[in-house]
Amino acid sequence: MTARRRIHVSPRNPRAAAQCDRCCRIFFHDQLVKEMAYRGDRTVWNGLMVCRHCLDAPQPQDRRRQPGRDPIPVQNPRFQDQESNLLITQSGDVLTTDGGDALTWW
Ligand SMILES: [Zn+2]
Repeated sequence: MTARRRIHVSPRNPRAAAQCDRCCRIFFHDQLVKEMAYRGDRTVWNGLMVCRHCLDAPQPQDRRRQPGRDPIPVQNPRFQDQESNLLITQSGDVLTTDGGDALTWW
């Protein structure tokens, strides 16, 4: 059995009564608030009208992050092979510097 709250309605200034969608207690309708939740990058009403005790803040983990855009592909790409750029003698030896580093043609 749920606990019910009594409200006192003024006959001179009547206010509507409503039930909290979460705890089922009775409040004045203007005391209930719309509960918001993340849908994508913005918050939307999740359809619940709740009292301030039952109100949950929108959870950041429900927020969807937009991934960054893919890089724009290069038109007519060229494969750069380090081995094909080596300078080779007629006998097939790789030309090197005095320090032993291989020489490339670019
Ligand atoms: Zn409530």
